[in-house]
Amino acid sequence: MNTYECKQCGMAVKATCGNCDIPLENGMIDLADGSQVQVSKCPECEGKIKSPMCCGDDMSCNL
Ligand SMILES: [Zn+2]
Ligand SMILES: [Zn+2]
Repeated sequence: MNTYECKQCGMAVKATCGNCDIPLENGMIDLADGSQVQVSKCPECEGKIKSPMCCGDDMSCNL
Protein backbone atom coordinates (compact mmCIF):
# COMPACT_ATOMS: atom_id res chain seq x y z
CA MET A 1 0.00 0.00 0.00
CA ASN A 2 1.41 3.35 -0.97
CA THR A 3 1.47 5.85 1.80
CA TYR A 4 1.93 9.56 1.53
CA GLU A 5 3.62 11.07 4.50
CA CYS A 6 4.13 14.64 5.66
CA LYS A 7 7.70 15.13 6.74
CA GLN A 8 6.74 18.04 8.96
CA CYS A 9 3.94 16.67 11.13
CA GLY A 10 3.91 12.94 10.35
CA MET A 11 0.43 12.91 8.86
CA ALA A 12 0.02 9.80 6.65
CA VAL A 13 -2.46 9.09 3.85
CA LYS A 14 -3.24 5.88 2.05
CA ALA A 15 -4.07 6.67 -1.55
CA THR A 16 -6.01 4.18 -3.65
CA CYS A 17 -8.10 4.50 -6.80
CA GLY A 18 -11.80 4.39 -5.98
CA ASN A 19 -12.55 2.72 -9.30
CA CYS A 20 -9.85 0.06 -9.34
CA ASP A 21 -9.17 -0.31 -5.62
CA ILE A 22 -5.42 -0.39 -6.17
CA PRO A 23 -2.69 1.86 -4.74
CA LEU A 24 -1.86 5.03 -6.61
CA GLU A 25 1.65 5.53 -7.92
CA ASN A 26 3.67 8.66 -7.45
CA GLY A 27 4.31 10.60 -10.63
CA MET A 28 5.11 13.97 -12.11
CA ILE A 29 3.34 15.86 -14.85
CA ASP A 30 4.74 18.72 -16.93
CA LEU A 31 2.72 21.89 -17.07
CA ALA A 32 2.49 24.20 -20.06
CA ASP A 33 4.72 26.76 -18.34
CA GLY A 34 7.51 24.21 -17.91
CA SER A 35 7.05 23.55 -14.22
CA GLN A 36 6.30 20.12 -12.80
CA VAL A 37 3.58 19.06 -10.41
CA GLN A 38 3.67 15.97 -8.23
CA VAL A 39 0.63 13.77 -8.84
CA SER A 40 -0.79 10.44 -7.76
CA LYS A 41 -1.82 8.30 -10.70
CA CYS A 42 -3.66 5.02 -11.06
CA PRO A 43 -1.71 2.54 -13.21
CA GLU A 44 -4.93 0.76 -14.17
CA CYS A 45 -7.30 3.48 -15.40
CA GLU A 46 -4.68 6.21 -15.91
CA GLY A 47 -6.56 8.52 -13.58
CA LYS A 48 -4.56 11.28 -11.92
CA ILE A 49 -5.07 13.44 -8.89
CA LYS A 50 -2.95 16.13 -7.34
CA SER A 51 -0.80 14.65 -4.61
CA PRO A 52 -2.12 15.23 -1.11
CA MET A 53 -0.76 18.30 0.62
CA CYS A 54 -0.09 18.95 4.28
CA CYS A 55 1.57 21.84 6.07
CA GLY A 56 1.70 23.68 2.74
CA ASP A 57 3.88 21.12 0.96
CA ASP A 58 3.28 18.11 -1.24
CA MET A 59 3.33 14.97 0.84
CA SER A 60 6.02 12.50 -0.15
CA CYS A 61 5.27 8.98 -1.30
CA ASN A 62 6.87 6.01 0.39
CA LEU A 63 6.75 2.89 -1.76
ZN1 LIG B 1 1.76 18.07 7.92
ZN1 LIG C 1 -8.03 3.40 -11.41
